[in-house]
Amino acid sequence: MKFEKVGVIGAGQMGSGIAHVCALAGYDILLGDVSTDKVEAALATINGNMVRQIGSGKITEDDRKAALDRIAIADGLVDMGPADLVIEAASENEAVKREIFTQLCPFLKENAIVASNTSSISITRLASVTDRPERFIGIHFMNPVPVMELVELIRGIATEDDTFEAAKGFVSSLDKTMSVSEDFPAFIVNRILLPMINEAIYTLYEGVGSVEAIDTAMRLGANHPMGPLQLADFIGLDICLSVMHVLYEGLADSKYRPCPLLVKYVEAGWLGRKTQRGFYDYRGEEPVPTR
Ligand code: NAD
Repeated sequence: MKFEKVGVIGAGQMGSGIAHVCALAGYDILLGDVSTDKVEAALATINGNMVRQIGSGKITEDDRKAALDRIAIADGLVDMGPADLVIEAASENEAVKREIFTQLCPFLKENAIVASNTSSISITRLASVTDRPERFIGIHFMNPVPVMELVELIRGIATEDDTFEAAKGFVSSLDKTMSVSEDFPAFIVNRILLPMINEAIYTLYEGVGSVEAIDTAMRLGANHPMGPLQLADFIGLDICLSVMHVLYEGLADSKYRPCPLLVKYVEAGWLGRKTQRGFYDYRGEEPVPTR
């Protein structure tokens, strides 16, 4: 099964990155969000990121123009009708995703495949609200999509082999490497990464170290390219909290208890880079630790 048109629902950090790499790989993209303003903003971001890629010699000006021409704005789920594959990359909230899938499916072609980019939510559970659990799969890109090589593929209990093979072919066509995960809370990468980030936040909460001390310790002591608090801000603290909730509830183990300090930051609306404030304040020239 070959795809030509790919629908992307949610034009935030991930949706815009997914549209970016798919358009460069030659797919026609239908990009939608709750409003066309959000999609316009995403198109500006995609353009800016492509200009940077031209600067580093990864793509040419002709590639940029052709890719941007392949991205059309979808004004509502009805516009996703012609897509062969639809990738949902809306907020990490199960109720929101369920609502999207329920409303989307009646507009789709019978053989269209539906995927979720969820970081943690059960693919089997999301598939169950659709009319096509056998053609539903998890295609989990990493952030930032144009830079990160890995894509996790997650089969739900009903995902058919043809769907899995089509998704594998799609990931290869984007020049990404895949890793296959069983459908358990947060899959592989986030099952390991998020408890580490949550523990870093506990380390801060208990006063073991400052933001700077914790990030420096893990960068230079564990050779991580980014400190865990810096990474949490990059991912988005709302996403981090949602993933910890899914782990805590899905595995019923107190070791996944979200740190109260993470909850407090999210309640304050300090979600990291995307809101200019998280464990660092990004409003000035240089990020400044907020604790
Ligand atoms: P984001 O907050 O940057 O973007 C989410 C977008 O979804 C927003 O533009 C929002 O307006 C839109 N949205 C919300 N409800 C919608 C609806 N009903 N219909 C259409 N659009 C809607 O979040 P993000 O970081 O791009 O994350 C999106 C998904 O990707 C989440 O499931 C997240 O877990 C997953 N993910 C995130 C990361 C990361 O590092 N941030 C990495 C891998 C996967």
